[in-house]
Amino acid sequence: MKTFCGRANPTTGAMEWLEEDENYDYHQEIARSRYADMLHDKDRNTKYYQGIRAAVSRVKERGEKAIVLDIGTGTGLLSMMAASAGADFCYAIEVFKPMANAAVKIVEKNGFRDKIKVINKHSTEVTVGPDGDMQCRANILVTELFDTELIGEGALPTYEHAHKYLVQEGCEAVPHRATVYVQLVESKRMWSWNKLFPVHVEAEDGEKIIVSPSEMENCPGVPSVCDIQLNQMPSSDFTILSDVVTMFSVDFSKPVRSASTYYRVQLEPVKSGKAQIVLSWWDIDMDPSGMISCTMAPYWVKSTSAFQWRDHWMQCVYFLPNEEPVLQGEKVYLTACRDQYSVWYKLEKARGDEENKADVRVESPVCRCQAHLLWNRPRFGELNDQNRTQQYVKSLMKVLKTDSVCLCISDGSLLPVLAHYLGAKQVQYFFLVFRSLRFTLGFLFFKANHLEDKIKIIEARPELLTSSHLEDKKISVLVGEPFFTTSLLPWHNLYFWYARTAVTSHLTSNVTVLPQSASLHMMIVEFQDLWRIRSPCGTCEGFDVQTMDDMINNSLNFRESKEAEPHPLWEYPCKSLSDPQKVLTFDFRKTVPQHCLSTEGSVNLLRKGKSHGAVLWMEYHLAADISVNTGLMQISNEKVFLQPNLLCQSVYFFSSVIESETLSDLPSTVTYAINFDTKTGEIAMDFKL
Ligand code: SAH
Repeated sequence: MKTFCGRANPTTGAMEWLEEDENYDYHQEIARSRYADMLHDKDRNTKYYQGIRAAVSRVKERGEKAIVLDIGTGTGLLSMMAASAGADFCYAIEVFKPMANAAVKIVEKNGFRDKIKVINKHSTEVTVGPDGDMQCRANILVTELFDTELIGEGALPTYEHAHKYLVQEGCEAVPHRATVYVQLVESKRMWSWNKLFPVHVEAEDGEKIIVSPSEMENCPGVPSVCDIQLNQMPSSDFTILSDVVTMFSVDFSKPVRSASTYYRVQLEPVKSGKAQIVLSWWDIDMDPSGMISCTMAPYWVKSTSAFQWRDHWMQCVYFLPNEEPVLQGEKVYLTACRDQYSVWYKLEKARGDEENKADVRVESPVCRCQAHLLWNRPRFGELNDQNRTQQYVKSLMKVLKTDSVCLCISDGSLLPVLAHYLGAKQVQYFFLVFRSLRFTLGFLFFKANHLEDKIKIIEARPELLTSSHLEDKKISVLVGEPFFTTSLLPWHNLYFWYARTAVTSHLTSNVTVLPQSASLHMMIVEFQDLWRIRSPCGTCEGFDVQTMDDMINNSLNFRESKEAEPHPLWEYPCKSLSDPQKVLTFDFRKTVPQHCLSTEGSVNLLRKGKSHGAVLWMEYHLAADISVNTGLMQISNEKVFLQPNLLCQSVYFFSSVIESETLSDLPSTVTYAINFDTKTGEIAMDFKL
């Protein structure tokens, strides 16, 4: 059987439906899943085990049989813990078929076939009764259905249903409760992921400021959570405005309501400032007393001894709809609204209680300005990077002449506005329109900056561009950032090259293309922690879970050539083991060649350490001597600093880690073969250690 998978084609920038082997989807899901990361999470595992043992004991002490319902069993881990702790029987529910199959194997291998029944269903489909999936209702409810936002994976509706139909009243639940904490902060860095700051341009006739449309200033944004490794955020990047307070908690041993609701707390700012961001995390108590607790609190809140690195649970950044000045000691109300799957926040100055209650609306925020739909958070950060903008300004000044006719190819780019201020007589703004929202956003921008009649938005794909779109002019300067919404990996922005090729007949013979070229760079690194997501587990809390390792490996090798994966590298510290190396160059002054671009070579390993993989990023050469680097910032004391906020960095994990303790036993080189297939726009890689 075949299935269809949606994917952006890097040569056309368009979404396409590709026919794939029916297994493709689930291999992708397993290969990119966080199962391994969860199994490596020692803190989580030991606390679950303690909580499960305690719950089984409490039930036994009451003289009852311990019947466990484990919703979302994955590898079967929590059911095996329960069975080992003396549970009489476990119903292990798993909706994802390949995982349910793996759970059956793992349960059998560990000798729990008589104690654990794996049921491949969504919990809401499970039946109870003599002929049902479960003989009777359970008296212990065990789950791990939480994401960074706690409720994003549907924990609430699942619990609501389970309490109604699958467990006894007064059941024991592991975890027993979850508590969500918040802290109000001001942070220019994080706020720059959500709002566009005014862009300052030094033009010949004085400073110009590009402003955002008012629709954007007042836009509440999108409700999707921004989950990050907050522990990588230096304390100098934010100012704490309030103490940590409990926003809400959920008792999983009692009936749970999943319907939309809101929670409100009063905060007394500890400092005056601009309230912009709500930082949030949760903890889960595995037992009613709260003695066994697993917390996601960031470094400035918890003791370092409680620290456990994990990527499956991080911390949340919520953007308030608007920044709100607050004064130290002057009370404010913070409201958390939630629906079944997500949470969002608003802040109000303290007023009469009744008045406040009346205007709580729990509808989720809807982006009105289009920008939050077109740009993701790192893209906002990139646009707000004044240094980067400066490089574009400098290079545009170099290439633009008073009579330039300029065409810009990039999604939602401010380059046409920059180019206009820097003196291009006619800047044609070329919009790639597959969805009209790109058009709308551009229009709002040009209007806010009084440029509606100066910059023309063309609603056409590059290959469909006609000379009438261009008022019969030839383009003398072609610019791009390049940025495209659909790009995932660094080289996907090479779509600019394909678009440039498609519009060739509209370019003057001595056209200037900016950037003139791009190059792909790589470096071999040892990750401080990220390696865990790819590392086999073997045994977990004494249970043999190798079946899971084999399954992940099999899925990773499903494609002949392994793929690089996107990771925002500032969140994952690493140490460089080699010098950065330029591996491929793409010349935008020429059209995309018919043949593939390949390279082979070797990199010297300069330091001892574990070679976990290669990090890859692009550098864009805007004009002579002016480049923007989207990856490496600096290397100092072997520690690598990667560009914050920037988009499309990627990691290629080596299939086996090479470890060297001393320089003398270093295999001094890693050889590589890298191939850019110009037909597909994808890069295949192979490394040998
Ligand atoms: N319990 C395992 C795995 C947790 S991951 C462990 O702690 O290691 C959560 C799993 O729950 C995923 O495999 C997901 O497919 C499954 N799942 C989520 N909601 C479910 C539901 N309502 N019914 C059945 N399975 C569910």
